[in-house]
Amino acid sequence: MTAQPLDPAIEDKVSALLGQMTLEEKIGQMTQIDVSVVTVPNGQEVDQPFDVSKLEQAILNYHVGSILNTPTTPNNNAQTVGKWRAMTQQIRDLAQKSRLKIPVIYGIDAIHGATYTRDSVLFPQAINMAATFNRDLSFKEGEIAAREVKASGIDWNFSPVMDIGRQPLWPRLWETYGEDVYLASSLGQSFIEGHQGENFADPLKAPTCLKHYVGYSFPINGKDRTPAWIGERMLREYFLPSFAAGIKSGAMTIMVNSAEVDGIPGHANYQYLTTILRGELGFTGFTVSDWEDIKRLYTRDHLAASPREAVKIAVMAGIDMSMVPFDYSFYELLLDLVRNGEVPVARIDEAVTRILRVKYLSGLFERREPDIAAEDHFSTAEANAINLQAARESIVLAKNSQNILPLSKKASILVTGPTANLLSVMNGGWTITWQGDNEALYPQQKLTLLEAIRQKTSGQVSYVGGQRYQDEINIEQAVGEAYRHDVVVMALGENTYTETAGNIDSLNLPFPQYQLARALFATGKPIVLVTFGGRPRVITEIADKAQAVVLGFLPGMEGGVAMADILFGDTNPSAKLPVSYPRNTNDVVLYDHKPIEAFEANQYNPLYAFGHGLSYTQFETSELSLEKTELKPGESLNLSVKVTNTGKRSGQEVVMVFLHDVAATVTRPNRQLKEFAKVDLKPGETRKIQFELPYEALSFIGVDMKRIVEPGEFKLYVGKETASFSVKE
Ligand code: BGC
Repeated sequence: MTAQPLDPAIEDKVSALLGQMTLEEKIGQMTQIDVSVVTVPNGQEVDQPFDVSKLEQAILNYHVGSILNTPTTPNNNAQTVGKWRAMTQQIRDLAQKSRLKIPVIYGIDAIHGATYTRDSVLFPQAINMAATFNRDLSFKEGEIAAREVKASGIDWNFSPVMDIGRQPLWPRLWETYGEDVYLASSLGQSFIEGHQGENFADPLKAPTCLKHYVGYSFPINGKDRTPAWIGERMLREYFLPSFAAGIKSGAMTIMVNSAEVDGIPGHANYQYLTTILRGELGFTGFTVSDWEDIKRLYTRDHLAASPREAVKIAVMAGIDMSMVPFDYSFYELLLDLVRNGEVPVARIDEAVTRILRVKYLSGLFERREPDIAAEDHFSTAEANAINLQAARESIVLAKNSQNILPLSKKASILVTGPTANLLSVMNGGWTITWQGDNEALYPQQKLTLLEAIRQKTSGQVSYVGGQRYQDEINIEQAVGEAYRHDVVVMALGENTYTETAGNIDSLNLPFPQYQLARALFATGKPIVLVTFGGRPRVITEIADKAQAVVLGFLPGMEGGVAMADILFGDTNPSAKLPVSYPRNTNDVVLYDHKPIEAFEANQYNPLYAFGHGLSYTQFETSELSLEKTELKPGESLNLSVKVTNTGKRSGQEVVMVFLHDVAATVTRPNRQLKEFAKVDLKPGETRKIQFELPYEALSFIGVDMKRIVEPGEFKLYVGKETASFSVKE
């Protein structure tokens, strides 16, 4: 293990400051409150939302270390940049009046850009960023998110989600980078590197927060905040590596799993929070609880016999900061526990050291006002252009029979279905509001799919709504109109949601959407199915009959334009699925399944496989070649492969390198992604791509739970090419 490096100059400052602090001041640092605790009612509607005496109480009496969210929870409406700057300025100014002038760190869920700042650049959600397979775009998203958070005067971003999306029912699947460990780790790292830069005290940079450590994304029943049962091997193979990668890239804060794994709530798990996170992963930043989760050890989990015991369990397990969030109970109870000798001062000092470390590293002690001017760094033309590019690269063309796509701009088109004319369905949760569902607050100038289609075409475009997901409406009208047009663009999918509000009982689409599709297929008109939504809802019956299928997931504010660009061929699609798209509701076999899952009657038979995604041109891989076919322990493997654009249009191809361990003492996945590259190729152009697989890429968690590489045979798959090599001692 290599611990995250410590800067001696910062460590000196931290210990000098800690030495001056009272116990109350220390415990205050560990306390995070929701901003509604210190605002007037309906603070989202007034220019100066703070109740000054409450703010003074929080900062001067309770010494709170951190504030989160918008005025006023739960109406988390986005506020203007100017209002954010003024609000955070008031907090900074007040902290300057406190005895030790310790700055408050303000945190926000800038999940796909500055969620809660009005008119911010809101990117495709993480599931889409994963579909781009483009590290550079993820890096740029990180840069832009950090800049817009900082331009808003805010200090800290609760992003990226490093949970691995291996349970498609889970209502936060789309907040992840999909089912693959390597892809998620890699794109998360690029995001962090863009967001934090070399030094996140830089005015344009800000600290990130890895979420939700660990195992949150794998609830056995698919419902948010319900138990996962993850054995140690699975934890180490699938769920820890992305967090390890984020720590390696310099993330200095981690938010904890709100649910439980193997019967132990995330907030009580000493083994995960301390033994593994500190001892093995070398994390030197601080952990923050998730929403109210220390209290819930008592109120929900019945793990603690009282709220007081809950605080003791969580702090002793390794929680450094409590997102309380609505009162000062954590502060009072922890103070009492320390005074009574039930929580050692050393544990408090450890937590506060970590918090102060991050505050120094973030440059907060020097910041007297927002670091950067909003005009130069907020919603710039360049950032909007990058966002559009990301959206274009994030939409998967899954089927295109007889090249029905691209559509002619002269075609007469019926656009129908519940997701055709809304911005919210393309953005998902954490957009302007928590659930992302307040369409009225969306920026007027951004285009829905219908609007984008109308802008692009000279043909007749009709629209029959059906904006309700669950109700059968307008079907007859849609059928009538279909007869009068050349082609139907049918946009189905999900309404927006996040967290528990997005729980569902089945991956099937709401029934009326199948009804609409069946009625439209009966017309015999060609149908292009477009979907938006955060999960792979079952579309098999529709996809089989549709001429084309385009999977939009949650492409963000530019999603309408990007989707229209693809439908009409102004963009050549290049996205690849970062999840296996199930054929049926219980058909959740993932691409990196074990051999037994595809043996005899079992099979991996998704509707669309992980990595699937078509283009308007064709690519071919050839000449996979390995520098050597015998490795000694510790050696990396250099390989190259050629990729050619054999079609008639320029396009981008994702070259993926998959590994298979031929025989091992623990069963190994059928194949696992180990490297990828995205290349731009003109028609007829060939490029040779080089990869270097580090020796650790061959490793797995052995019988004794240690990461090892076993000598023996390995296979590589790149496109249709295969090659073999061995490791010999
Ligand atoms: C979510 C976190 C989020 C936090 C603060 C929680 O309910 O699980 O992802 O960062 O709220 O808004």
